[in-house]
Amino acid sequence: MSKKRLALLTSGGDAPGMNAAIRAIVRFGLYQGFDVYAIYEGYQGMVDGGDRIRQMNWDSVGGILHRGGTVIGTARCEAFRTREGRLQAAANLLKYEIDNLVIIGGDGSLTGANLFRQEWPELLRELTAQGRISQEVADSHRHLTIVGLVGSIDNDMHGTDMTIGADTALHRITEAVDALTSTAASHQRTFVVKVMGRNCGYLALMACLATGAGWVLIPENPPNIDNWEEKMIEDLKAGRKAGRRDSIVIMAEGARDRHGKTIGSSHVVEVLEKHLEEEVRVTVLGHVQRGGKPSAFDRNLGTLMGHAAVEAVLAAKPETEPQLVCLRGNRIVYAPLTKCVEQTHAVAAAIEAHDYERAMDLRGGSFKEAFRTLRTLLRSLPHEPTPGQKRMRFAVLNSGAPAPGMNTAVRAAVRIGLDKGHIMLGVNSGFRGLVDGELREMSWMSVNDWASMGGSELGANREIPSGRDLYAIARTIEKHEINGLLVIGGWSAIQGAYQLYRERDNFPAFNIPIICLPASINNNLPGSELSIGADTALNNIVWAVDRIKQSAIAQRRCFVVEVMGRRCGYLALMSGLATGAERVYLHEEGVTLRDLQGDLDQLIDGFKHGKRLGLLIRNENANPIYTTDFMTALFEEEGGNLFDVRQTILGHVQQGGDPSPFDRIQSTRLAARCIEFLIENAQSEAPQGAFIGIESGGIQIKNIEEMPRMIDEANRRPKKQWWLDLRPIAKVLALPKAPAEEAPK
Ligand code: ADP
Repeated sequence: MSKKRLALLTSGGDAPGMNAAIRAIVRFGLYQGFDVYAIYEGYQGMVDGGDRIRQMNWDSVGGILHRGGTVIGTARCEAFRTREGRLQAAANLLKYEIDNLVIIGGDGSLTGANLFRQEWPELLRELTAQGRISQEVADSHRHLTIVGLVGSIDNDMHGTDMTIGADTALHRITEAVDALTSTAASHQRTFVVKVMGRNCGYLALMACLATGAGWVLIPENPPNIDNWEEKMIEDLKAGRKAGRRDSIVIMAEGARDRHGKTIGSSHVVEVLEKHLEEEVRVTVLGHVQRGGKPSAFDRNLGTLMGHAAVEAVLAAKPETEPQLVCLRGNRIVYAPLTKCVEQTHAVAAAIEAHDYERAMDLRGGSFKEAFRTLRTLLRSLPHEPTPGQKRMRFAVLNSGAPAPGMNTAVRAAVRIGLDKGHIMLGVNSGFRGLVDGELREMSWMSVNDWASMGGSELGANREIPSGRDLYAIARTIEKHEINGLLVIGGWSAIQGAYQLYRERDNFPAFNIPIICLPASINNNLPGSELSIGADTALNNIVWAVDRIKQSAIAQRRCFVVEVMGRRCGYLALMSGLATGAERVYLHEEGVTLRDLQGDLDQLIDGFKHGKRLGLLIRNENANPIYTTDFMTALFEEEGGNLFDVRQTILGHVQQGGDPSPFDRIQSTRLAARCIEFLIENAQSEAPQGAFIGIESGGIQIKNIEEMPRMIDEANRRPKKQWWLDLRPIAKVLALPKAPAEEAPK
């Protein structure tokens, strides 16, 4: 039997993270025994054939993970829209006996792929009749298997929470808007920022949420009044009056009014200049949004989707419909490609028909929720409390090491609480502030520019209250008449909250709702697959490792990079996956002398055969004896003249910096839910203690009594760590070459 063959192509608009997908498809394809071909320049390459279709090997996709765009090129292709073009494309594929195709592109590309698959049997008949292929070839390739991956910065595909490239585009946009905000604030200027998204307001909406901009215009939900311009002016003026120094309007390129009339940026500028009587500047971000290095998230998304695509090809049967590889929560799943494309088109159709309610419904629950939350956060002042409403007093504190996104969470909590008519108290320095009674009332403007700030403005420390502290905390709660407590932080946050909850019988003051919001770069907290800050830390590591790798390009050198995480290997594994490290060392797996010997043998072998760079990533506590120093010394000594070894301990760089868009968005969503929880529970006879988290099914709130059962206390991490399932994927990708055909599948 002839060998299984698989081809891949990138089509439509390019997106950062496509290269990670290409690398994973090629390597997993080879690993599973396929001959793998890359089709250069999208469908155009398939129609042209010849050297546009090239066989790939393990090394052809080395060194591309960190690069933006797509190394195999992409194009728009008119010929593929014609039957003649597709006939030619089929003929070209069959020259190589290819009948498995993985397409990375947007909905246009995937529609084309589906059509191609439907026509395939007819195309084969025609090619046979014309004598262009033999009957034998036609008979042995009767079905075309299609698997789709969505590469699109717009995040506009139904069925997947994220498309490859959207997170990076959000990085570009938030960097730009943060920069504009600082200059706008200096001059008290107004900026209009136009971002991509013809039918999809994802980038505009999320950028606004992440940067704290003042107004947003998205295609799915135009302002619901005709004189929206007046409302915008009124809001921005009110913002100024309340003390904002900058006004930023973010608009999607597909922004329109209620009647479907396009809103141009020049119109917005004109209106603003006239009524605000100040300089208004417009910034069209354009292709900058597509460009640059992919974020850590997009690299790993591309890799995991690429892996899943090969699995889908392997599992495909002739009757299987084309599958789309999707992300739901944190998990890769499959969905019928045609249905996802249809639903995506349905959003565009709803917008076209001015049925905005349906457009928002089709976008899904979390998009709608984000829009609602945004409308509150954007306000220049909170709503007046409803007359007669009970005004409750909620306290917010940060506990543990500072995690990027903590301030964003506090900002959202304070504003949402105030907007619902309650009083929000900020506690200084974690539980210590509760002990010492150091808290202050927070106003709307006191958190104005906190959305983009790293660190912890309230102050945080790792103290967990016990003994006499509990008396003092009970007194503070009584004195300040606190009706509910939001604790944002890491291990000490949840342990501290649990302490208070457990002592309820002894201290009646603790009979208030308490909720924990997970924020720790280590991602070692129970009840949340991801904690706030981890994404920023991962991007910090990836940023640093990219530079470290570059520095060594001339020498034969191996780096041992130590990353944080305490005893949780999340940062080590995920950064290893995102940077193409050949080995990661985790506390969860331990390190043995035999491992080190094996790794050393592999390094020596690699460097003898032309390898120039080695990268080993080590969790800070992977092994207490085989430390980073030890490993570096061992490899250096044994590497002899073949290669030298350097160590880099990344340290607190990982904790610093502005929070990533993902951390800002998630902390805002979680904080909004926490406030809802406190309001609801403060009115209950038996208020709950709880912890919130991002789980694969969405945001979940669990009773704090469940916490002790979920943790491995000695190692301070959850008993179940979902990301350990990704370990085998990282291992295969890090192999020095494709295993021989008889290698285990
Ligand atoms: P995207 O995939 O990013 O949505 P396009 O819509 O431009 O980008 O599609 C990319 C390419 O996919 C097109 O240039 C064309 O070759 C092919 N394509 C798109 N739609 C179809 C279709 N309905 N039939 C056949 N080919 C299509």
